[in-house]
Amino acid sequence: MTISIFSAKQYDRTFFDQAKDRSGIKLTVRYHGESLSRETVAHAKDATAVCVFVNDVVNADVLKELHIYGVRAILLRCAGYNNVDLVAAEQFGFFVANVPSYSPESVAEYAVALVQSLNRKTYLAHDRVRLGNFTLDGLLGFALNGKTVGIIGTGKIGVCFARIMHGFGCRLVAYDPFQNEEFAKYGDFVELGALLEQSDIVSLHCPLLESTRHVINKDTLKQMKSGAMLVNVSRGGLVDTDAVIESLKERHLSGLALDVYEREGSVFYTDHSTDIIDDDALMRLVSFPNVIITGHQAFFTGEALTEIASVTLDNMICFSQGVPCKNNILQGSLLARQSSKPLRI
Ligand code: NAD
Repeated sequence: MTISIFSAKQYDRTFFDQAKDRSGIKLTVRYHGESLSRETVAHAKDATAVCVFVNDVVNADVLKELHIYGVRAILLRCAGYNNVDLVAAEQFGFFVANVPSYSPESVAEYAVALVQSLNRKTYLAHDRVRLGNFTLDGLLGFALNGKTVGIIGTGKIGVCFARIMHGFGCRLVAYDPFQNEEFAKYGDFVELGALLEQSDIVSLHCPLLESTRHVINKDTLKQMKSGAMLVNVSRGGLVDTDAVIESLKERHLSGLALDVYEREGSVFYTDHSTDIIDDDALMRLVSFPNVIITGHQAFFTGEALTEIASVTLDNMICFSQGVPCKNNILQGSLLARQSSKPLRI
């Protein structure tokens, strides 16, 4: 059996090689630095499976080519599968599996780090001190204790985030069409409009679906409290970038922290420090003093990478042995079927 791993970085090699050694599975692993697309799909020739990440393109055209090349399994080394055309995958008979949970604490803790960096402006203070400037003007923050935090999506990550923010003494409200009882320990479920009106900080923890694309848009931004902060460590497509830029320019949003960006595919995970970046909206965002952008790294801990590699190989083993796989997206998930129209990030 051969697995072709796309968008592979050195850290993917390290954690996948370790997981392979631990599992004892007989498997040839091919690492490709390029992301999967129409242009690179030929690398997968004669592989049994491809392993893809958040920005690989797995649309109908790519799936057709993969099928011709003999590939039969799509292994996502992430939770979200918005970049896979599930209808086409099912039509071609692919096995598609993801890693639904890998250290949700890592992602939630990162969201908290962004909240506090943005609030207490540690990123600005760090730059100042390096230049010998120890003044405090412009660095004023607020105490989290007693503030209202709105959480959109109370799945694994949303609940971890709620637990931590509850520890800071925040009042928590959440919106989720499928209410998770776990969250009730920390706060109250409310309608989306009420959440936006009440929250000092809004944090997004829902998947990118047809129904959630641009959940933060011109209208919902207007519903947010003046001076509220927005944090997105989920998927870039949840936020209408042009609308948040306007809201920042109007001084309505007081701060924005993004670990994900709706057009991140052409920029993230590569070094553009000597290029001209053509994405004007992204560069406008970078220019605001009250915006923090990071390159989709909330998951990036040793714990998460260990889990990702090990569950991905377990999914491969299930596929090769023809035994039921709990992470088989096309078998188990009603949500996958409901939301099967793919959304590019
Ligand atoms: P999860 O499936 O456990 O939870 C998602 C929650 O969102 C569910 O409770 C679901 O009911 C809810 N939801 C669905 N539609 C909604 C809507 N319209 N409005 C509000 N909530 C809605 O997923 P999770 O493990 O908590 O992950 C959440 C998201 O975080 C993933 O979909 C992924 O996009 C993102 N993520 C990002 C990183 C990163 O490194 N930045 C890492 C892992 C996951």
